[in-house]
Amino acid sequence: MVSEHAKLRVAIVGRPNVGKSTLFNRLVGKKLALVDDTPGVTRDRREGDGRLGDLNFSVFDTAGFEDVIDNSMEGRMRRQTERAIADSDVVLFLFDARAGVTPLDLAFSRLLRKSETPIVLCANKAEGKEGQIGAAGAWELGLGECVNLSAEHGDGMLDLYETIVDRLKARGINPWPDEAGDEDGEAAEPFDPDVEVVEDPQKPLRVAVVGRPNVGKSSLINRLLGEDRMITGPEAGLTRDSISVPWAWQGRPIKLFDTAGLRKKARVESKLEKLSAGDTIRAVKFAEVVILLIDAVQGIDRQDLIIADRALYEGRALIVAFNKWDAVADHNKTLVDLKEKLEIHLPQVKGVPVVTVSARTGRGLDKLMPAALTAYTKWNRRVPTAKLNRWLSEATERHPAPAVGGRRLRPRYMTQVKARPPTFALFMNRPGELPESYNRYLMNGLREVFDMEGVPVRLILRKNE
Ligand code: GDP
Ligand code: GDP
Repeated sequence: MVSEHAKLRVAIVGRPNVGKSTLFNRLVGKKLALVDDTPGVTRDRREGDGRLGDLNFSVFDTAGFEDVIDNSMEGRMRRQTERAIADSDVVLFLFDARAGVTPLDLAFSRLLRKSETPIVLCANKAEGKEGQIGAAGAWELGLGECVNLSAEHGDGMLDLYETIVDRLKARGINPWPDEAGDEDGEAAEPFDPDVEVVEDPQKPLRVAVVGRPNVGKSSLINRLLGEDRMITGPEAGLTRDSISVPWAWQGRPIKLFDTAGLRKKARVESKLEKLSAGDTIRAVKFAEVVILLIDAVQGIDRQDLIIADRALYEGRALIVAFNKWDAVADHNKTLVDLKEKLEIHLPQVKGVPVVTVSARTGRGLDKLMPAALTAYTKWNRRVPTAKLNRWLSEATERHPAPAVGGRRLRPRYMTQVKARPPTFALFMNRPGELPESYNRYLMNGLREVFDMEGVPVRLILRKNE
């Protein structure tokens, strides 16, 4: 430990080109960083005042051996890293998620694993699919949980903040040494990063109500918005953009994608009622949560399933609302039948949440938004790597993966690469040979154990001998 009452000290280490300067600039703010960037000056570190949420610290990187890559590099790297460890309260160790783990990264990790100073492993350049997959290789470095970052775009800063705070607290270091007496940071402003907010209640939740013609979409939306806000025309006073209606439910801002309203306008010109595939796809793409409205009297139709399938394919949180429940005679039997049919026809997600409503009487509508919010929460779920792997080893022990061609398949390691929807990478030998049934066994287990029922969870299989 370095600082007792002085400012916290944060070091950024990693091989050349992983993005240390970019992260440094982000933490310090460009202006300060530029001052230090005098060309021609050989520097072996650069230092500035950094800020991340309510954390204030001095940050330095270990630039200096970028220009010369020769045999003295290993020695200099070692010295610099040891100095960084000795001089800091926490070390941010970056690797390049796009390039994957390299031998030099491994050399760094061996040095860092010995240190008493807390290390935060960061996969930088983790934006996009390519980056996420690369980031999943972090386990090789043996430094525990990895924070996925994009220093360039600013993604992952909340995770970085939380991880730094956790690591410091775990070592008994006060993350806020300059705030005398403020033990639990009550007065501190909540950290509001500009990106990757997992669940910011102030950000409007994007919800689309989709379904076949005549299932009651307009009736439902009018009910939800209140009769005084008819949305069938572009009335004055109602601010709406072309695709969504602003709304709030119990103080939570919601953007409601209104396919019905769009269609009502078109109806003036043409009485022809048909499902507008374009509108539905647009609505699904726009939404975080898709409410599929189905006419409970008519039952489930092929078109309903096509829409559900589309929403899941796009990775959206899906909930099914059976409407016109007032017109259903035998409630219990109908519900059992409808649910059974859903399970049969949507085998890719077990346990899609179902609500029964009546847009006409208003019955059941109080359950609709809570169901949507619950689905949204599950859709945002992040499972820590350690828990995930504890579960994986239990699941593969209870029911080992089969042998294919005389050789056993071995799922070895799993990590969550992203949320919204939750996406996991599974490392194993011969990923191309994993039978669909075993894949489903894992997915269903994941959903059940980590409370992600009804969520279109994704599993990416990666080779690892
Ligand atoms: P350093 O040598 O470790 O200080 O790395 P730099 O900060 O100079 O970055 C090396 C290169 O990676 C530069 O071209 C950056 O623009 C790029 N880079 C840094 N962070 C990111 C990122 O988050 N995503 C992507 N795609 N590129 C990045
Ligand atoms: P949309 O085409 O999906 O927008 O459907 P509408 O909202 O225009 O409704 C189609 C028809 O179903 C209308 O005649 C509505 O009055 C009727 N309807 C809508 N919701 C309900 C309901 O909860 N119960 C009953 N019995 N009829 C409904």
